[in-house]
Amino acid sequence: RKRILSGVQPTGRPTLGNYLGAMRNWVALQELYDNYFCVVDMHAITVPHDPVELRASTRSMAATYIAAGIDPARATIFVQSHVPAHAELCWLLSCVTPLGWLGRMIQFKEKSRKQGEDVRTGLMTYPVLMAADILLYQADLVPVGEDQKQHLELTRDIADKVNSEFGGKPWKKRGGRGGRVFKVPEVFIPPSGARIMSLLDGTAKMSKSAENDNSRINLTDSPDVIANKIKRCKTDSFDGMEWGNPDRPEASNLLTIYSLCTGKNKEATLADVGEMRWGAFKGALTEAVVEHLRPLQSKYGELMADQSYIDSVLSHGAETASVTAERTLADVRDAMGFVPPY
Ligand code: ATP
Ligand code: MG
Repeated sequence: RKRILSGVQPTGRPTLGNYLGAMRNWVALQELYDNYFCVVDMHAITVPHDPVELRASTRSMAATYIAAGIDPARATIFVQSHVPAHAELCWLLSCVTPLGWLGRMIQFKEKSRKQGEDVRTGLMTYPVLMAADILLYQADLVPVGEDQKQHLELTRDIADKVNSEFGGKPWKKRGGRGGRVFKVPEVFIPPSGARIMSLLDGTAKMSKSAENDNSRINLTDSPDVIANKIKRCKTDSFDGMEWGNPDRPEASNLLTIYSLCTGKNKEATLADVGEMRWGAFKGALTEAVVEHLRPLQSKYGELMADQSYIDSVLSHGAETASVTAERTLADVRDAMGFVPPY
């Protein structure tokens, strides 16, 4: 069976962007694959963070995975820091990754700009840790939003580099996978919803760590909060709704959200709301989002009422993940020439 791995950072609350760009596709794909879904808490400390919030967000992110439809009986749901192999492989990979590759990463450029003088080393090496997350599990497919495409390409380049530097004969003799240390993973980006934009700027990505809470819809926002945020979202002075007009990025984004939440294609969406003015469309959009999130929110509420269940899922997940991760790590140590500890 082919394997999937993906994750979300517990930085703040998950947004509609995280759901439509990533989690929803994990749910759709989980029948067909062997699934690993990670709460990447070590990524969450690459920018200044609050320990109390990190602890709460880590558990609530795990609950969100399950509420979104990830089945703990079929998927390994775990916390990155519970499997120390991630940190160790990150070091090994960072000694193979050219520094120049990291300086080109768009996310580093964008996030470091916001940090001013206090840019941490980990923010730059973030993509190396992400490569470790994926390669440890020999994942075939990594379903992510469009903003992570560049990091996934870097993961593939790192895997190729390790395979060509260390995947050769000496290791093969010791039983390696045909001269290959890592499987080179494929990227899966959804055809629609890959980049959900901010409610306040149709040209900026919706992000859970953005300063203004009104820029996003959090999966746990109440119907009132959702209605309020949509009421205040950025609009334009055109009448009627349309897709793909470069002068109307907000209209395109909100139509995409409407279509994904109602399950209607472009034509059906335009038949529904194409003639509406902003005021009426906002009402229809609010209803679509609220209805779409309702089952997820009620499941999330139940899960958060029983922390011991979440903790048991995570502890079981860490055990399963560790077995796979340790197997890969032992191969990498061997391929790179480390003496075994016995
Ligand atoms: P942060 O601001 O802390 O980086 P984030 O909202 O970007 O938070 P991540 O944890 O970095 O969330 O990413 C988790 C997953 O969600 C990734 O697969 C990412 O591609 C996807 N994703 C994030 N934002 C969006 C978005 N606006 N539209 C679609 N997918 C998104
Ligand atoms: Mg992000």
